[in-house]
Amino acid sequence: MVAYKDKDKGSVVSLNARRAVEDEANAAAFGVSITQSNLVAPAANEQAESLLGRLVFDETQAFYVASLDGALIAVSAEYEKLTVRLGNGLLSAGAPDHIGHGPVPSLKLIIDDVMANGSSVRVQESLLIGREEHVFLGRHIPVKDALGDVIAIAGVYEDITGQIRGLADASRAQSRFQDFTRASSDWFWECDDEMKLNELSDRFTAIVGRPSSLYKGSSFDQIGKFNSNNEGRNDFGEAVALKKPFRDQLLEINDASGKDMRFHLSGVPIFDRATGEFSGYRGVGMDVTQKYRDLDRSRRTRQELEDTLKELTRKNMALDIASGQAQMALKSKNEFLAAMSHELRTPLNAIIGFAGAMTAEACGELGSEYKGYANDIHGAGEHLLGLINDILDVSVIEGGGLTLQLEDLPLEVIIGQAANYNIQQAHAKNIDTSNWHTDAVIDIMADDRRATQIFVNLLSNAVKFTPEGGQIGIEIEEGEKTVNVTIWDNGIGIAPDHLDVIFDKFKQVTDHFYSRKQEGTGLGLHISRELARHMGGNISVTSEEGVGSRFTVTLPKSKQE
Ligand code: ADP
Repeated sequence: MVAYKDKDKGSVVSLNARRAVEDEANAAAFGVSITQSNLVAPAANEQAESLLGRLVFDETQAFYVASLDGALIAVSAEYEKLTVRLGNGLLSAGAPDHIGHGPVPSLKLIIDDVMANGSSVRVQESLLIGREEHVFLGRHIPVKDALGDVIAIAGVYEDITGQIRGLADASRAQSRFQDFTRASSDWFWECDDEMKLNELSDRFTAIVGRPSSLYKGSSFDQIGKFNSNNEGRNDFGEAVALKKPFRDQLLEINDASGKDMRFHLSGVPIFDRATGEFSGYRGVGMDVTQKYRDLDRSRRTRQELEDTLKELTRKNMALDIASGQAQMALKSKNEFLAAMSHELRTPLNAIIGFAGAMTAEACGELGSEYKGYANDIHGAGEHLLGLINDILDVSVIEGGGLTLQLEDLPLEVIIGQAANYNIQQAHAKNIDTSNWHTDAVIDIMADDRRATQIFVNLLSNAVKFTPEGGQIGIEIEEGEKTVNVTIWDNGIGIAPDHLDVIFDKFKQVTDHFYSRKQEGTGLGLHISRELARHMGGNISVTSEEGVGSRFTVTLPKSKQE
């Protein structure tokens, strides 16, 4: 501050108080009140010098007074200190030791400006202090006498480096924030203390398709509807009432085309730095429309899945009941078949026995015609018995009632029995049986009757499906724990697509003039394989149509083996 000093009273007073003419422009420019006395104005420089005697410098400011021709008249102590700090660099008013040495050229230029303007002039000056650039704001004002004539120039310098840097920082921060805003898919908002929107970023406009000005002055409740978010929370109102921050509050808004859009709002309360008073909220909004659509879809899919699962469980239960009923029915059927077969076998055995006796003419000679009939009865009886036996076997196996007596048995005996049973029919068809190797000395673990039944069946099939003069062989191959017995023939063979089904019940796959002559039930292979499996073995087949077949029975060797 600069003021005139009343030498008589020895105190500092503003010339205001001494009826001075106030120069408002100067006062405003300087920030302090500088006024002139009502002295009769002498020539400019003399007046300045006489003024000087009455000036008081505010020691806290870097201040100078110069005459109109640019000669430095006086500087404040702070100006002197500043000059020392600046080292070689000089402010426009020059070095303090220039006082009394005529006009300072740089000051002369500024004074010309002040004179031309008729009011104060602000000049920014950059100077290096050490390696750091400092910016000084010089405010130069005309000092006028009571008549309004300029009689001197006064100026004050202020180091505004901090302010300039602060401004630069603020502008950098602002442009950084603008970049974030542009790059972000989120939008930004600000509300006043009544929760009315006063700021909405352009991104919101882009998403919703309406100018943000439409929303300014409105509350969120007016532009959309809050709803429970994906975590089941809806506490926007509660957070605002308590002036607390909030996160991911679901706001639903209809966009310009009427489409339902969903946003997650997060915000923090703002308080006035100076007074600490609540002044609103600031925050971000995130477009979560797609996320919620995906969530809805996955919820729907999960629901559908659950429904399907329920339906499946229901069907499974129904199936369980049905299969239980079927099992029961199967059991009853098997029981019935077993009972019936048993009942049929007794009279059938009598028929076969008596027919045999008649054929053998055990009770006396028969006419040739009657003997022929007795023979037919015997044959038909045998066939029927075979059929009944097969049906009984299937029902026993399916009913789980098959009992086996597993024991160590010599393989050659089993195969020998089966061979004896079939050899006559083979020879009757002129079939070459020279390759029936039945003499392997291996013990197997099997049920005697059932194992023989398997080989009888396979050999009788081979005889059945091999034409006159063909060839049938028996091969034995010993493995580590099992033995493979292969019954092979060069008969009619089996088509590749029939190989899978011949082990099914009632399947007879040969279908040409030759096979139609063959009798059978289609149960033999099924029963044989089930028996082999029950004994810990199996039956496999390879065959080529017109070339022949190989049926291989695998059975476990005896433990001693
Ligand atoms: P079937 O009582 O009809 O012989 P199988 O179950 O023993 O019943 O045989 C089923 C079918 O497999 C036969 O009808 C026949 O078509 C075929 N098959 C079995 N063995 C042979 C074989 N050695 N050669 C050709 N086909 C065979």
